[in-house]
Amino acid sequence: MLEPDDSISFNKPLRTHANEAVLEFLMQLFNAQFPTEKDCLEELYRKADIKKLFRCRYCKSPDITREYGDRVGKCKHCKKMTWFTGGTFFHHIRTAKPWLLAIWLMERRIIISSSRFHQLVGISQSSALNIFKKITTVVESHMQEASVKVPSAVFTFAICKRSRETPAKKHPFSEEEEMEKLSSAEASQNPASDHHTSKAQAAKTTDMKLDRNEQEIVDILSTEPIHVDLLCQRSKLPINKILAALTMLELAGMATRLAGDRYIRQHTTELAEQKVLEPHTAISNQQLTHIVNSTILFIRHKFHGISRKFLQNYLAAYWLEFSKTRWKSGSLLNSCWQFGPISPKQICAYISPLLVRVLVNQH
Ligand SMILES: [Zn+2]
Repeated sequence: MLEPDDSISFNKPLRTHANEAVLEFLMQLFNAQFPTEKDCLEELYRKADIKKLFRCRYCKSPDITREYGDRVGKCKHCKKMTWFTGGTFFHHIRTAKPWLLAIWLMERRIIISSSRFHQLVGISQSSALNIFKKITTVVESHMQEASVKVPSAVFTFAICKRSRETPAKKHPFSEEEEMEKLSSAEASQNPASDHHTSKAQAAKTTDMKLDRNEQEIVDILSTEPIHVDLLCQRSKLPINKILAALTMLELAGMATRLAGDRYIRQHTTELAEQKVLEPHTAISNQQLTHIVNSTILFIRHKFHGISRKFLQNYLAAYWLEFSKTRWKSGSLLNSCWQFGPISPKQICAYISPLLVRVLVNQH
């Protein structure tokens, strides 16, 4: 975990190296290395520790003969054919190239939006999005090693796309309000739950010292919703300072964002109930604010806003782009193999939790 004096580089300018020139260069490299579909399939097969996974479907024998670039192998015992992608992360993939390329680029810390990927590879945008969601689901399953949990509400500035969870005719952010309502309804039915006992801890986080900007914003906020533009005019602070202060106040449960970029003052700890960090987190609120804001910048810059439903997947993508050594060549592909199958139903049913994981460790 992060040491308090371990000066974190999240406030440095965003890495913009995933620009078109780099991408073009990497595409040439990839195409030279894997010119055909067979080469891509062979790479999928070769890179993973597949010898352990690949067994005859019928007699479970590991003795299988297979030709270069083939998706099927023949069992030496029962002579039946088995697909090596069957029942794995790559179950039912139509072609190997887009999958290998996406993973290959991510292992080189190149994260591109699904609309760019769809142009690049010539697959449909929904296929490109599916690839992104599945790979980031695998990454997310490892996030415990590098992250803390924060309320998803602090990411509302990155959320401006609708999903199937968005209530009809409402702003995409209203998903958050719906989930919070559901969660407090559950908590009141279930007074002994963790959710309820976290009150004391939450009260502690609200007991924070405010800096000048935060105090100024708090003084302007009231129970009457105010738009962020109006906050700009009244406070005379630059927008980035205001957003940083608002994020801090939200984390402390002292301000709440409503749909349409409007804010209200929160006097009680009722909202803060949900805003509890993990107890072992050695990270200050200031550091957390930097992290949250850099992540929001990353999401807005790369993806031009997202839906709340898949927020956690984008937080995982942030880890891919900013980790230095964790996802080096081969490791992401291997993790995909280890993960096993993910059905379209699972992806569709996924909803980011109220407490999401954000990266704090850049290894
Ligand atoms: Zn067999």
